[in-house]
Amino acid sequence: MTLKFTNTLSRRLETFEPIHPGEVSLYTCGPTVYDTAHIGNLRTFMFEDLLKRFLIYKGYRVSHVMNITDVDDKTIDRAITEDLSLTELTEHHTRIFLEDLRTLNILPADYLPRATEFIPQMVESIKVLLEKGHAYRTDEGSVFFDVSSFPEYGRLARLDPEQLRSGERVADDDYQKDEARDFALWKARKPTDGDYAWPSQWSAGRPGWHIECSIMSTHFLGKHFDIHCGGVDNIFPHHENEIAQSRCLHNTPFVNLWLHSEHLIVDGQKMSKSLGNFYTLQDILDRQCSPEAVRYTLLATQYRQKLNFTFPRVQESQKAINRLRELVRRLEEVPSSQTGTRPEIPDKAVEAALDDDLNIAGALGAIFSWARELFGLMDGCDLSHEAASKSLEALRRYDEILGVIYFNLDSETGADIKRLIKERDQARKDGDWARADAIREELLTRGIILEDTSSGTIWKKG
Ligand code: AMP
Ligand code: ZN
Repeated sequence: MTLKFTNTLSRRLETFEPIHPGEVSLYTCGPTVYDTAHIGNLRTFMFEDLLKRFLIYKGYRVSHVMNITDVDDKTIDRAITEDLSLTELTEHHTRIFLEDLRTLNILPADYLPRATEFIPQMVESIKVLLEKGHAYRTDEGSVFFDVSSFPEYGRLARLDPEQLRSGERVADDDYQKDEARDFALWKARKPTDGDYAWPSQWSAGRPGWHIECSIMSTHFLGKHFDIHCGGVDNIFPHHENEIAQSRCLHNTPFVNLWLHSEHLIVDGQKMSKSLGNFYTLQDILDRQCSPEAVRYTLLATQYRQKLNFTFPRVQESQKAINRLRELVRRLEEVPSSQTGTRPEIPDKAVEAALDDDLNIAGALGAIFSWARELFGLMDGCDLSHEAASKSLEALRRYDEILGVIYFNLDSETGADIKRLIKERDQARKDGDWARADAIREELLTRGIILEDTSSGTIWKKG
C-alpha cells in the first residue's frame, strides 16, 4: 500500500519514498524550554508520535531527532526575569516536558540535543555562510543572513517576492510574514542579555533560533534527510530560514518532506502563552482526565485539521477507550471451546486510512465498526475462540499505533477489579449474598458496572 503525505513544500499529496529504502530520518522541532509546554504544543508532538509509530508499524527503521531550544530570546528573558540561571530554568522545563511525554505515552526521540551543546558548530557554519556571501556582519558584531542571496527564499511559506525586503533586518527570533527580511544568524550580546554570551570572531553573543535546528538536524541525520515536522506556525519564519541556511551551506537538497500540524484551538483561537488561553497537561489531569483520554483527544483529529479542545471531548475519548478495553476483556473471556463466526480483521482498512495522509479518523472508524461486529457476535455466543485470539492480536497491533488501550491498563486497577470479581464469584458460590452485593456496590462507586453473563462476569466503565 502506498504511503502518502501532504508536503507543505508542494501543498500536494505526495507518495512517500525514503532516501534509503527501509529507513526514515525524522527531525521534529522540539520545545522552547522557557516555560511548561501547553497542550497545543503537545498536539504537535502527538501528531509526530502518530507519524513515527505508523512508520514503525509499516516496518521502517526510524531515526528520530528532537531538539531542545534552550537558548533564544524567550529563554534568556525568562531566566533574567525569574532570577534563575539559564541552565536552571531550561533544565527544569526540559524535565517537565520529558515527563509530559512519558505521561502521554509519546515515544522518546533517539537523540535529544540541546542547542547550547552545539554553539561551536553553529559559529563554524555562520563563518561558511559569510565566506560564501550569504551573510553579512553589522557594526555591533551581529551576523545576518542576506535573503536576496538565495533565490528560492520564500518558497515554503509562499511569500510574495514583494514582501521581501533585503538589506532591512529583523533581529527577533520569531516574527511575522510581513516582516520578511534579513534575519539574525548571530546576535551580539545586548545589555538585556545579562551574562548569556558565547565567544565568536564577531562578538560575544549567541546564535539565532533558526541556525540551531539547521545544525542539529544535519549533525545527526546528514545534509539531506527525509522528514521535518513542526506546527504550522513554524513554517514561517523558522523553517523557511532553516531551508535558506542549510541549502546555502551545503548546496544539496535539505529535506524531502515537510509536514506541519494545524493548531489546537480554544474558543476559535490558537492556544498560546501570549494569549493566556492555555492549559498545561497537569491542568487537565487535575480535572480528573486520564492521560490516555488526553492522548486520544490529541490524536483523534487528523493533523491538518484544527483541533478544538473541550472537556466533553476528553470525556468522549475516555468512553471510546473504555469500549476498546471492554472489548479486550470480553475477547479474553471467550471460552476455548467456543466455535462460531470468524469476522474479517480490518488491517487493510486501518492501514489504507493511515496511508492516506494519516487519516486517523478513518482508521478509528474501521476499528470501531469491527468492534461493534465483535460485540454483536459475542453477545450471541457466535465468535469462535480462534477469532477472538486473532482479534486480540489485532488490537495489540493497532495499539502499537494508538497507544491508548494497554497503556496504564494495570494501574487503571484492572488487576484490582479482577481480584474483586473473583472474590464476588466465590461469595456467590458460598451463598454470601451480602458480601457479593457489597463488592458490586463498591465497584459501582468507582464507576465499574458488573454484568453476569453465561460465560462469566464482565465489567465495564459506566
Ligand atoms: P515552541 O515551544 O513554542 O517552540 O513550540 C513547540 C511546538 O508546538 C512547535 O512545533 C509549534 O509549532 C507547536 N505549537 C505551538 N502552539 C501550538 C498550538 N496551539 N497547536 C498546535 N501546535 C502548536
Ligand atoms: Zn526547529
